[in-house]
Amino acid sequence: MQVPAPFEYERATSVEHAVALLDRLGDEARIIAGGHSLLPMMKLRLAAPEYLIDINDLVDELQYVTITDDEVRIGALARHRQLLEHEGLAQVFPIFRDAEKVIADPVVRNKGTLGGSLCQADPSEDLSAVCDTLEASCVIRGVDGERVVSMHDFHQGPYQTAVADNEMLTEVRFPVRANSSSAYHKVERRAGDWAGASVGAAVTMYGAEPGATIADGRVGLCAVGPNTTNIGPISDALRGQAPSEELYAAVGQIAADNCSPSTDTRGTADYKRHLAKELTIRSLRKAVARATGQES
Ligand SMILES: Cc1cc2nc3c(=O)[nH]c(=O)nc-3n(C[C@H](O)[C@H](O)[C@H](O)COP(=O)(O)OP(=O)(O)OC[C@H]3O[C@@H](n4cnc5c(N)ncnc54)[C@H](O)[C@@H]3O)c2cc1C
Repeated sequence: MQVPAPFEYERATSVEHAVALLDRLGDEARIIAGGHSLLPMMKLRLAAPEYLIDINDLVDELQYVTITDDEVRIGALARHRQLLEHEGLAQVFPIFRDAEKVIADPVVRNKGTLGGSLCQADPSEDLSAVCDTLEASCVIRGVDGERVVSMHDFHQGPYQTAVADNEMLTEVRFPVRANSSSAYHKVERRAGDWAGASVGAAVTMYGAEPGATIADGRVGLCAVGPNTTNIGPISDALRGQAPSEELYAAVGQIAADNCSPSTDTRGTADYKRHLAKELTIRSLRKAVARATGQES
């Protein structure tokens, strides 16, 4: 089936208008942003909303990247391409450019959005792993106002988020820490494909010079099963340690032990577990090198 079920369509003129529509129409309505996940699902009749609320005109309210000394704020309608090309963002969080280079293809990146990626909540969504790795918080808006939830609480399971039927995601916030950096590695069967496995790492060091000790670190795994972000034993193993290949290998093993991939057309479970380990090693190595000025 390649034709969606009939639906009503309305273009929101403001965030206030969009949430008022959501509140009035209830669970029969869905926001449409880039449409690169929702429209294929509608064509396959995996989703059949009665109303689509288009937020693509809300550029002023929802499409921005704001960087200050202690925080980065990104609007929900920021496109993949904007995140790929933003020089300031690449300097503060190079993980974004690493990931965006390997998300889909230019056509999808021109339209797909940060908000749509997080709200789709596909366990293979690269930006979910990026945001989790960076300890982001999500701003959710409804008719009664705003609330902020951690990324950890935002995703409640595959295709499930903390956003209620009468709410929308408006912004994602990221803490900026001194002496920090990040990296992302993905293995895909062919250019533009979803991940067989991918891994993001973020570290904060006690100093910016080579040899500095790791003050804190996080790893987010993608496409290797549920609950594969914010893995406590990984951060415990990194905290207070001197960077070394032995440390990266030990943490890679923790990553492999804490994921639960399934065998599918992208590889066997064993292969993906191996990827989780190897990509953790590479992402940590690169994040530390960047944080200590040895690599850009
Ligand atoms: C061929 C192809 C390859 C792809 N490859 C990759 C890949 O390698 N890695 C990857 O991570 N992704 C990939 N994607 C997905 C792509 O990143 C999509 O852009 C993304 O999943 C959804 O963003 P969107 O703006 O298109 O969302 P939409 O399709 O518009 O919406 C997706 C869902 O989120 C909801 N939604 C959207 N915005 C909001 C909001 N602000 N508040 C509340 N709910 C909202 C919608 O109601 C819908 O349920 C691929 C997609 C395609 C078509």
